[in-house]
Amino acid sequence: MVPDPSPVDAVPDRPGAQHASLGDAVRGAPSPSADPDEATGAGNYFVANYPPFSFWQREQAGRVESVLEGPRGEADLGVYFHIPFCRKRCHFCYFRVYTDRNAAEINGYLQAGLREFRLYAGKTYLAGRKPKFVYFGGGTPSYLSVAQLTELTTGMRDLFPWDEAEEVAFEAEPGTLTEKKLEAIRNLGITRLSLGVENFDDHILELNGRAHRSKELHRAIAVAKELAFPQINIDLIAGMVDETEENWKRCVEQAIAYQPESVTIYQMEVPYNTTIYQEMKAAGQLTAPVAGWATKRQWVSYAFDAFEAAGYTVTSATTVVKDPAKTKFVYRDSLWAGADLLSAGVASFGHFAGMHYQNNADIGPYMMALDEGKLPVYRAYQTNADERLLREFILRLKLGRVTASYYLAKYGVDPRERFAQPLAYLQSEGFLSLAGDEISLSREGLLQVDRLLHEFFLPQHRHARYT
Ligand code: SF4
Repeated sequence: MVPDPSPVDAVPDRPGAQHASLGDAVRGAPSPSADPDEATGAGNYFVANYPPFSFWQREQAGRVESVLEGPRGEADLGVYFHIPFCRKRCHFCYFRVYTDRNAAEINGYLQAGLREFRLYAGKTYLAGRKPKFVYFGGGTPSYLSVAQLTELTTGMRDLFPWDEAEEVAFEAEPGTLTEKKLEAIRNLGITRLSLGVENFDDHILELNGRAHRSKELHRAIAVAKELAFPQINIDLIAGMVDETEENWKRCVEQAIAYQPESVTIYQMEVPYNTTIYQEMKAAGQLTAPVAGWATKRQWVSYAFDAFEAAGYTVTSATTVVKDPAKTKFVYRDSLWAGADLLSAGVASFGHFAGMHYQNNADIGPYMMALDEGKLPVYRAYQTNADERLLREFILRLKLGRVTASYYLAKYGVDPRERFAQPLAYLQSEGFLSLAGDEISLSREGLLQVDRLLHEFFLPQHRHARYT
């Protein structure tokens, strides 16, 4: 069952808290309170896919090839490339990143990525299909040099031309962006530049292990604006180590002042494979040194209100957009509607015709597979029709609103009947309302949607460790 949401946070704010190091902050974290569900403990909170990754199996990896050798797919296609290099590992990071690779090693990795794309281009399932969206994620795509970016994208475009793509998104760490590099990125045809700002305060950036400082991010935003990217997105995280309410409000004000086309706001989670968790374990702490979930929800709610007052629209649990008619998140919306995703690079996740797959998570075996001319798929999961409906229902619920007619037309299933029990429960708790065709989350529901989504999971997928 969903724990009772308390309006009072279990972990009090620590206004003015200024810890000298992450270790100090961890040791100063409050003990778990009477309501441990509200304190931030270790573990993944966000639901990024369904069924949970822990159910994907090594034994099913070979089945991806059978899909790829089948008839040409009809779904929308996206292309993703994972660039696992960063200047420094952030203390809250749980991705596979490498901070010690030299230019020759990075070039080798990019060549392996292009070999992977070449293998895909030869598959009948993908033959002649052009991507509707392209995404460069990481890690830090902007860590690559202009020459590396040019070589990578030229090779990718030869195999999967982007001329019909509605969106080409690129994640950037502000400290890696020189004027010259930003100009080159703009010239690659990037439509959304996603700037990993996270916070505008130098103390918070430093304590959380971010590589950049406020001076670099102010400069990067200013240059990106001059270059007139079609969409500049600012990423913020509510509740980083040592965050206070005053600091959060200043961050929101500064983000509004820059008038980006969109802002993504995440609530801080502390997965097991983070430096913060390692410090917690060493100190015997169960509670992370960050605000509790109720406080983070309050902060995001404050941000939503402030952005709305400034003319923005809340378009999902994590996004606000200046002009929803113009600014879209094609990658997210297509994936959540069941698009195919050709995902290349170490540890990346993809999806073909209901078959989920993930690549090898270590760069050595990933590159070795490609050296041998094999796809580096490590594990996979073949969904059934009910799991696909469920996936599409829960992920789209993160937009705040879905219609029953969409699922009736696509799956011949009325979600109001299929999910009658969890819907009634969430309605009785005030998280959700049903009005005719529409199923909508309340603001309170939207702010904690990832926690609520477990109500819809099949019994065998509940309480899965979300890694
Ligand atoms: S920049 Fe992103 S991917 Fe790189 S270490 Fe930090 S959180 Fe992880």
